[in-house]
Amino acid sequence: MIQLNAEQIRDFRGCRYLYKAKHIDKIVQKHYVNERDLLPSQFEDAIKKTIKYFYFEAMNKNIVSYKDLQKKFERLWLKEKTVKDIISDENTPQKNVHHFTTEGIKVVYDFYKVNHKNPGEVLLLSEDYSVPITKNVIINGNIDIALNKNGKIILPIYTTKGKAYFSEGNEGYYKIVLDAIAFKYKTDLDINNVSIISFKGGGYKQDDIVIDKLKVRQLKEVVEEIYECKRFLPNHDYYWCKNCSMDKYCSTW
Ligand code: SF4
Repeated sequence: MIQLNAEQIRDFRGCRYLYKAKHIDKIVQKHYVNERDLLPSQFEDAIKKTIKYFYFEAMNKNIVSYKDLQKKFERLWLKEKTVKDIISDENTPQKNVHHFTTEGIKVVYDFYKVNHKNPGEVLLLSEDYSVPITKNVIINGNIDIALNKNGKIILPIYTTKGKAYFSEGNEGYYKIVLDAIAFKYKTDLDINNVSIISFKGGGYKQDDIVIDKLKVRQLKEVVEEIYECKRFLPNHDYYWCKNCSMDKYCSTW
């Protein structure tokens, strides 16, 4: 039996050699990451936690005020500073922090406007899963939120990433299929689509992606292929190699 998550499946599909180096041999390649590159993921994390806070309170029949929600975002995103500090400081050297802060305020406002009157019923919140999907493979992951809204089950994924991240072959795609399978396993409720709610560029855009039987069957075939794989040959594909964290290790090979 093996255990897999979305990143591992994505890596295997992209390059089997990369998959083996990272996830079986556990070779860690250190890359210098500057603070600027970390901002989008820190921003996404702060927005997600703000939204989870809203739903956590909603589960307890408490609809927080917009002001509370904005304060929560401020605390998560800016730590000791306030939005006012950042926005009023036009000369801040951290232009990106300024940019994300104004974007975040807009996202929180848009989220609140759409959801505060009808948050829906929270079915799952921050739910880790470890679920067998074939006789040889367990999938691991986390469902942020699952809702029953107006009789429709929704698995919203709040993200700063665009739609392309969720197209087939990318990590986002495997995550949403895994989440849908795990949701069905945990609740025994059917789910047909996952809603990608992207706040890229400060907007609030929802795209529903259908998770049909074919996608589930293909995913199960891939995980079985990983289980059975004996030869992990490098792919040497331009797209993969130029972004690969194992390039140094691999070229030595
Ligand atoms: S550099 Fe290219 S061939 Fe080598 S592990 Fe990475 S993706 Fe695979």
